[in-house]
This record gives sequence, C-alpha cells and structure tokens, in this order.
Amino acid sequence: MIEVDCYICHSSNKTHYDSENGHNIVKCGDCDLVYLNPRPGLEEITEASKSGMHRGDELLKVTGKFQNHLKDTYLSRLNDFNYAILFSQNKKVSWLDIGCGHGEFVETLTTFGGDNIEIIGIEPNVKKQEGARERGLDIRFFDLETHQEKYDVISALNVYSHLPNPPEDIAKWCKMLNEGGELLLQTGDSAHLPAKYHHKPYSLPDHLSFTNKKLLIELLENLGMKVIQTKNYRMAQYPVFSPLELVKEVARFFLPGHVATFKFFPKYPDCDMWIRAKKITK
Ligand SMILES: [Zn+2]
Repeated sequence: MIEVDCYICHSSNKTHYDSENGHNIVKCGDCDLVYLNPRPGLEEITEASKSGMHRGDELLKVTGKFQNHLKDTYLSRLNDFNYAILFSQNKKVSWLDIGCGHGEFVETLTTFGGDNIEIIGIEPNVKKQEGARERGLDIRFFDLETHQEKYDVISALNVYSHLPNPPEDIAKWCKMLNEGGELLLQTGDSAHLPAKYHHKPYSLPDHLSFTNKKLLIELLENLGMKVIQTKNYRMAQYPVFSPLELVKEVARFFLPGHVATFKFFPKYPDCDMWIRAKKITK
C-alpha cells in the first residue's frame, strides 16, 4: 500500500472521508476529490483488474454475469444523448467501448448503430471476455499504451473510478480520437457530497476515486474537449418506491447476493452522471 496525493490538484491536504472493507477514502482539502488512500501499488491494481478479484477484509467478487436489463437502460441513454443522428449519416462510425464488461453496451450499440457502426469492446477480465465472445461480440484486450488505432467515439461506462490516474488515462483516450471525435463517460457525480449521503458500497479497493460534474468537466476542458451534453440519472441501486418495487426489494434481500438497499428515498438519488464531449478541431 502506498500513500498518494490528489491526482487532480496535486495537493497533499486531505481529511478522512469514510472507511470500508478495511480501506480508507479521503477528501482533498483543495478540490473535493474523494480518493482511496493509502492504496495498492500500480502492479497490484493491474493484477486485480485482470482477475476481477480484489483483496480486502473479504474477497469481493466483481465478475458477475451478462445483465440483460442493462440494455434497456443503455438504449434509453443513447436516445437521450441523440446518438440516432450520428448513425443516420451515410458513414461508418468506429466506436471503442473501454472496460466493456460482459458487453451489454456493445450489444446495445450493435443493434442501435446497425450497418453504420463498427464496434469493439475491450475488457481486461478474461471471464467477462469469454462470456461476451460467446454472444458473438467483438471483445478483446489490448494495451492502450501502445495501441495505434483511432476511433470516432470512445466510451467508458463505470470505468472512471477504477482508473489509477484519470487525467493521464483520459488524455490517452483523447489522443486515440479522430478529429472531431467524441467521448462518452459515465461515472458518479458525488465527490461534493458528505459521506453520509454518498452511495454505498464504495467497493474499495476496486474503486480508487470518486469525482463529480465540476471536476470532470474541468478535466475534459483541460484536455481540449468541449462538453456537449451532461445528464444525471437516479442511481440504479435506489429503487423507485411502489408496492411492486417493495416486493422486489424483499425478494432481492433474500436472494443470493443480497443486493437489496431499501433506499427508496435517498437525499441525493441522481448521482449517475453521463457526459458526452467532443474533441475540438484545432
Ligand atoms: Zn485536489
């Protein structure tokens, strides 16, 4: 475990924010970023993401399986962000989905883009790769460090919090975009919230940091990106109250995994942030 400073403003000024699974997260006293500190060294982080297992007080199993219901959510996000226009032109769009997991978003895009999309997903977890390939999806893993291809769109959903150094990683993605290319990012908009209102579990030490809209927009603008659209949604873990959802939560409580939260009325439900940004042509 190593002691780290804020990767956004490089300040070492920090206060304890919360603890989970034998790990601590701190809040940067200068910019509000919430991050794991101390944290595993870089080699350990890479190994963990390859195997899908992360060692804490207990072994967290983060492999899971293909979640069909996610496709409905993704389809409605693609509509909200007007992607139909992108695919209505008579031009093939090359799209790279980073950290595609089991491939739910890749599969949604394959249908949504039809003949006008060429989509590749990359995923370090070998088990997830195999599952996605069985569904006929083009899922691979390659080192982005040395990757030379360029794309029209790069998406990274629920990847940000896993990144060891987001400004560096996102800068790399921007370089991999064609002129006028775009990023689509999804992560939590939560770093400004007091710990008691933050969504949980934090999934430490799998998640290394938590940002918010202000910090992420600044980061993208510093990299020469223009933010086109942002939208926040209710976190999937907060069910909308209804008698049926209550029954479902009770079922989830008893089912293996015990994923029920019973958080029908959180103070800040809409922390699921999506951002679409475009590379400015110089
Ligand atoms: Zn900071």
